[in-house]
Amino acid sequence: MIAEVIIDISNDEVDRVFDYNAAPDIKTGSRVIVPFLNRAVQGYVIKLKESSEFAGKLKDIGEVLDESVISGGLIALMDFMTYKYNLRRIDVLHLYLPPDMRGGRVKELKRKFVILNPEMPYETILSGIRKTQPRQTELVESLESGGEYLSALTTLYGSTVNTLIKKNFLTVTDMPVRREPRGDSHEDRVFELSDDQKKCVGDIISGKGKFLLHGVTGSGKTEVYMRVIEDAVKKGKTAIMLVPEISLTAQFYKLFKGRFFDDVAIIHSGLSAGERFDEWTRILNKEASIVIGARSAIFAPLENIGVVIIDEEHDGSYISESNPRYDAKEVAAFRAEHDGAVLILGSATPSVDTYYAVKKGVYKLLRMPNRINKKCLPDIEIVDMCREVRNGNTGLLSHRLEEALSQTLKDGNQAMIYLNRRGYSSFVMCRACGYVAKCSECDISLTYHIEEDKLKCHYCGKKFYMIDTCPECSSKNLRYGKIGTEKVVKELNTIFPKAVILRMDNDTTSQKDGHDKILSAFYKKQADILVGTQMIAKGHDFSDVTLVGILDADMSLYFSDYRSNERTFQLMTQVAGRAGREKKGGAVVLQTYVPSHYVFRLAKRYDYEGFYDKEVNGREVTKYPPFTVIVRVLVTGSEDAAAMNAARAIYNDIKAFAAKNPAYFVYLNAMRSPVTRIQSKYRYQILMRIKNDAEKDDIIQNIYILAGKDKLKDVTVFTEINPQSLV
Ligand code: ADP
Ligand code: ZN
Ligand code: ZN
Repeated sequence: MIAEVIIDISNDEVDRVFDYNAAPDIKTGSRVIVPFLNRAVQGYVIKLKESSEFAGKLKDIGEVLDESVISGGLIALMDFMTYKYNLRRIDVLHLYLPPDMRGGRVKELKRKFVILNPEMPYETILSGIRKTQPRQTELVESLESGGEYLSALTTLYGSTVNTLIKKNFLTVTDMPVRREPRGDSHEDRVFELSDDQKKCVGDIISGKGKFLLHGVTGSGKTEVYMRVIEDAVKKGKTAIMLVPEISLTAQFYKLFKGRFFDDVAIIHSGLSAGERFDEWTRILNKEASIVIGARSAIFAPLENIGVVIIDEEHDGSYISESNPRYDAKEVAAFRAEHDGAVLILGSATPSVDTYYAVKKGVYKLLRMPNRINKKCLPDIEIVDMCREVRNGNTGLLSHRLEEALSQTLKDGNQAMIYLNRRGYSSFVMCRACGYVAKCSECDISLTYHIEEDKLKCHYCGKKFYMIDTCPECSSKNLRYGKIGTEKVVKELNTIFPKAVILRMDNDTTSQKDGHDKILSAFYKKQADILVGTQMIAKGHDFSDVTLVGILDADMSLYFSDYRSNERTFQLMTQVAGRAGREKKGGAVVLQTYVPSHYVFRLAKRYDYEGFYDKEVNGREVTKYPPFTVIVRVLVTGSEDAAAMNAARAIYNDIKAFAAKNPAYFVYLNAMRSPVTRIQSKYRYQILMRIKNDAEKDDIIQNIYILAGKDKLKDVTVFTEINPQSLV
């Protein structure tokens, strides 16, 4: 048998398929060791065939490490991703396996387990113990109904255990232990479905293809997902559900475990290497047929998928922005189609792209316009912060929000305060000379973090000592920039000294289970106020939250990005949706300096359709997605001139290509990137917008080729399609 092997070396020259001789019982998807350039390297068998054009010259596969760890569906996906995102095959394969499995850094965990010697009758063992040793008898009796881990037994019985092992009455074996991710299972509540839910479940189960479930926050989308999954599992199929944040996986894991028990596995990058390996192994061995997770769970080793669900489909986190770059929604669509599964995208605020695809007939639209049990969506009150300032209030909270907060606390309810900026102050500036503290590696101002008393770069993570005098002019007159979540907590502590306040942002959740600890403390009402960035906006279901405060709602409005209106509308609706989810009802106070902006007016009315119509018209006129595809070739290098020259060369090539295909290029230009340097690398970009029609894939393939044509030393070139951010 001939095996086609992908070598586990990430390098353009090796990015090919190599043929090897293999044993007749070799299986596709196996991880193997093969001889390669006089070395033994790891590789993956992606295909088997009877003959090879290199027959006679082929080497033999050395060793099979694991059989069939990559399913046929995932091998087909590798081809799709290699083409679509211009990736190396091996970089795609790496997404499929637990990160530490390669190189054998993680294995099945085994612990010593003690049982009664199975070859000795129970009575023989008992009668072999002297009457003067009651502890020994007790130990033996305790093992009659089943074994126990050696460590636990030793804790209970001390050296008695070893004595009995020596007498050969007990046998020690190695027992695999499952490293189970944290998550107490939840009591299952099976509801009578609402009419809307019933219709949606029915349509999905009896249909096929792609669906958009457009349901307002609190309309009960989760129950729809669970019923559809239940149906798939009953039919012997498997299911994947993606959620946008690691912090949300815990909540869904609990719910799902309550209903599906051990049939659920969870996958995300916040798990320990061991946990991830064990969950992945359970899926591979078909011990779990339902997978919940963040973006990377889309690569779970499932076969025969019946349903793929992407909750909060509008969320930007489904797009991987670093190498390997991919869009989990497109990957999901591929897997669903490959396995004949239904694809469900769910959201209260679908992305403009998806809704446009609905209008074009790509997705079937299912709507759930009401909250469960006829609960109202919370009332959104818009507060004009210019007016507050005119009236002499320069504080963080408007009078209205302060009043509402104090009432909420008085009533014993909880509040969430949203501000999408972490740290204490967005920059530190000298009032005397205008000096701004900047990162030494990036062209970006540093954020002050008061808890660590450090200046931090939000692009590269580097930390610097805080300054109390200006390094340029020695003035002590420093000015702080816009406030961040740390400062919000501090000010709230002053205004409401008795309130217990939690903060959730990238800084407080960096440790393992960090999200989970904060959320479960808030859930258990160990705190009154939760302050946080967009992490708190998504999907969380807290029954005692009756007030949501949005500070600086304008922040996302002024990013120079064609999606800034869309993002703001989504964020406002999502954050607002956290309030009043149970009987108590809720209110939202939204603080802005531009209260009449249409995004806020439509968000206040929860008018998604109105927003979509306005937005899509604007995009059509200005020729932005979904009417075009944005392509950016990002060129970076530690030498400014080298990066610039490389960018110029690529630009000229693309310009010549565009001149031959003028109908497709709506826009083409080259420039320094808005952030000119990150991690000591100078950055240039070639930006284009390409007409979004059937031929765009061909055009993009040509751009990949032109951008990758000249391999220059010390210059890195990346081509991104519809990048989430253009910094
Ligand atoms: P969404 O994801 O649409 O924002 P959820 O799925 O979180 O909404 O549902 C909101 C709340 O309604 C949850 O607390 C859920 O337990 C509850 N719920 C869902 N379906 C029903 C139902 N049919 N009857 C009663 N309560 C329900
Ligand atoms: Zn100064
Ligand atoms: Zn930096």
